[in-house]
Amino acid sequence: MIRLPRMTLQAIESSLTVKIFVICFVSIHVPLLAVVAHLLSGGELSGMRVLLVVLFSTLAGTAGCLFALWRITRPLRQLSHSIDRYRTEGAPLAVKVKTRDEIGTVAQAVCSLVSELDMSLKTLEHQANTDPLTGLANRRFILARGEQAFSGAAVTGEPLSLLLFDLDHFKGINDAYGHEMGDHALTAAAQAIRSNLRPDDLAGRIGGEEFCVLLPNTSLSQAQAIAERLRICLERICLAPLPAGRITASFGLAEAHDQFGRFQEFMAATDMALYRAKQHGRNRIHCAPSRMMS
Ligand code: GH3
Ligand code: MG
Ligand code: MG
Repeated sequence: MIRLPRMTLQAIESSLTVKIFVICFVSIHVPLLAVVAHLLSGGELSGMRVLLVVLFSTLAGTAGCLFALWRITRPLRQLSHSIDRYRTEGAPLAVKVKTRDEIGTVAQAVCSLVSELDMSLKTLEHQANTDPLTGLANRRFILARGEQAFSGAAVTGEPLSLLLFDLDHFKGINDAYGHEMGDHALTAAAQAIRSNLRPDDLAGRIGGEEFCVLLPNTSLSQAQAIAERLRICLERICLAPLPAGRITASFGLAEAHDQFGRFQEFMAATDMALYRAKQHGRNRIHCAPSRMMS
């Protein structure tokens, strides 16, 4: 058996050009080698046998060449398949690149690039949907999810409730204790909201000191109980130097029904209920009128 020097092996392994050259060179010379072997084994240069030797060795060389080319381009096909799956299903790129030639290098680079892009995309997506101060969903995300939940509930017939609430006399906190204290109060309120959520509820900060909780599969009476729990929880926040009970909120509450054409209308009705809670003295819950009988 021919033993190639280590340097030569490394050169073949790491260079696509050398690999292709070796494959072509060997496959082209298979018929010649076969004829030489035929002659050395006592065969003659003329006649049908040598023709058959040339024919079969040419076929064998061609098959070997095709197989070797298929093998060295395999990482490219795996990569292309994996990119397709990433685009259609979001599946992470899973290409085990073993080759060290240019194809291996490119496949490896594309895998790293796509996973870095994927991470950046997820970070950007999270930032685009999140309120940076409280970590709750932002208005954009609430509107998008609300629209989805609203149309979903219309199809399934499951109840969907919405809670909008606004911290009372919040400007006074900023004015008396400074904006930073106001920020602390918002963060504390967000924490209180989070601790009262069920797994499917979605809470967001949709304005300066205005929050919202989307309550899937929740009737108005269940939502009322949740709102009351939340109202008490906010009232109990202790955040020195604010006096006890300084953080309160007024709540508007509504349950979705088919008289709201869109989520925006559902939200506007909830907002109207919140407005009434403010008008009636704050730190209280008001419900939007239920579906009118036609
Ligand atoms: P009401 O009970 O009627 O809701 O009175 P309010 O003072 O809470 O409402 P108003 O709309 O008069 O004031 C809201 C204040 O919220 C004004 C604004 O400076 C403050 N605010 C809005 N966003 C932020 C924020 O991110 N941080 C802080 N610290 N304050 C904010
Ligand atoms: Mg307010
Ligand atoms: Mg407000």
